[in-house]
Amino acid sequence: MPFTSDLRVFVGKNVVLSSAAPPTPATIETSKSTGRVTAVHHEARPKGAYADLVSEDYIDAGDLYILPGLVDAHVHLNEPGRTDWEGFYTGTRAAASGGVTTVVDMPLNSIPPTTTVAHLETKRAAAQRQCWTDVAFWGGVIPGNQEHLVPMVGAGVKGFKCFMIESGVEEFPCVTEADLEPAMEALEGTGSTLLFHAEFDDHSHVPAPDAPSDSTLYATFLASRPPAFETAAIARIIRLQALFPALRCHIVHLSAAAALPLIRSARAAGAKLTVETCFHYLCLAAADVPNGRPEFKCCPPIRGADNREALWEALADGTIDCVVSDHSPCVAELKRLDDGDIMSAWGGISTLGLGLSLLRTEARRRGFGIERVVRWTCEATAEHAGLQERKGKLAVGYDADLVLWDPDGELTCGEQITKETLNFKNKLTPYEGRTLRGRVETTVLRGRIVYDRAGDVRAGNRGTVSQGLSAG
Ligand SMILES: [Zn+2]
Repeated sequence: MPFTSDLRVFVGKNVVLSSAAPPTPATIETSKSTGRVTAVHHEARPKGAYADLVSEDYIDAGDLYILPGLVDAHVHLNEPGRTDWEGFYTGTRAAASGGVTTVVDMPLNSIPPTTTVAHLETKRAAAQRQCWTDVAFWGGVIPGNQEHLVPMVGAGVKGFKCFMIESGVEEFPCVTEADLEPAMEALEGTGSTLLFHAEFDDHSHVPAPDAPSDSTLYATFLASRPPAFETAAIARIIRLQALFPALRCHIVHLSAAAALPLIRSARAAGAKLTVETCFHYLCLAAADVPNGRPEFKCCPPIRGADNREALWEALADGTIDCVVSDHSPCVAELKRLDDGDIMSAWGGISTLGLGLSLLRTEARRRGFGIERVVRWTCEATAEHAGLQERKGKLAVGYDADLVLWDPDGELTCGEQITKETLNFKNKLTPYEGRTLRGRVETTVLRGRIVYDRAGDVRAGNRGTVSQGLSAG
C-alpha cells in the first residue's frame, strides 16, 4: 500500500507573507487533515526536498503569486427568503472564483433577517452543504430586539449591523437613538462590534431649485443622497459612542470623503471607530455612470472623482481600515433595467468575484503594491470580523486559505462577459466593458482547491462547519 502523507506543500517565488513587505520566495507546508498551515519557509524549496510527496501534494505556483484568501466582510447572500436574488451556493461560488475564502453575511435581505438566535440557526441550516467558502454571520439590531443581542454573541455572530435610514426591506427597520442606547449598553463589554449604515436624513437638506428630477438621470439620484446624510449619521455615531467607549463601532461602506475629518478627529481622541469602503467607491466615479443604468445604483451613492481620490488617501493613511464588496444583488425586474428608472431601482451593486482584480488594477495605477491590497482585503477584514486568529494571513496555525494569482492576467469585462465569467446568480454588474489586470487562477480553502480557472470549481471540496464560521 503506498504511503500517504498528511503534507501538502505550496511553493512560490512571489508569496505575500506580510502585508508590510513585497512578495518573497516561500514554501508553505499544510496539513491535509487539519487544513492549516504547519510551517512557512522563506525560500522556494524544490520538489526534491519533498521526495515522498505525490505531485498533487507539491503545488508549484511557478510565475503565479501566492496570496492569502480574501475575507469579504460585507456580503448579502439573501438565503432563505430571497434566494432568487442570491444564495449560499451561487454567492460563495462567485466569491471563490475571485479568491475570496471567507464571506461574512449581512443580517438583512434574507427572510428571516438575522435578528435572533433562532433566525441565525435558520440561516446556518440553509447554508449547510451549499458553500464553497467559509461563511460567518453578522447579526442585526432592529427596534425591540435588544434582548436577543447577547445570546447571538454567544451563538457566534461576529457583530451587529443597524441602519440609521430605511434599509429598503420592511423586516429590517432602521433604529433611532432610543433603540440604539439599550443595544449599545447590552453590547458594551461583550467584545462585539456595532456596524452602522451611516446615512441619516435630518431633513435639513433642501434640494437646489435647479436640481434634476428625471428619475433616469444619475444626477437625480446622486442629489437625493448627499454627503450630508453620511456626515450627519457619523456625527451621531461619534456622539453616541462616547457614552459606550468600550464598544467598537464600525462604519460600513463609507462613500462621502466629507466625513473623513470627523472620523480622523474621533480616532485621534481615542474612539474605537473603524471604517470600511467598497470596491465601487474606489474604482468608479459619478462622471463614469451612464444615465438610465441602475446597475450603478447603491446607497450611499458613488460620488465624484475628487471624492474617490480622497478615499484612496484615507485608505493609504489608515483612516479607512478595509475594503469589502457590499455585494448586494437583486433580480433584474427590481433593478428596473427595462425603463432605467434609477430612483425606483433596488440599490446594490454586484461584485463578488471581481473585487481583487478591480482593486489591484486601481491600486497599481496609484503606486500601491499587492501587499497593500492584501492588508485591505485579507488581514484588516479578518480583524474586523474577529477572524484574525485563523484567517487573512499565510502563517503557522492559520487556515490554509490561499490564492494563486496571475498578476498580469487580463480579464476583460464587457463583450466577453458571459454567464461563465460571472458566477453570481443575477448577471448584472456595472463593470461591463472594463479591462482589469490580474486574475485568480486557483483558490484553496483549508488546503483544498475550491476553484481552478482551468477546471472550474471542483465538487466535493467545500467548507466545513464550526462555531461562528460555517460552511456547507
Ligand atoms: Zn450592504
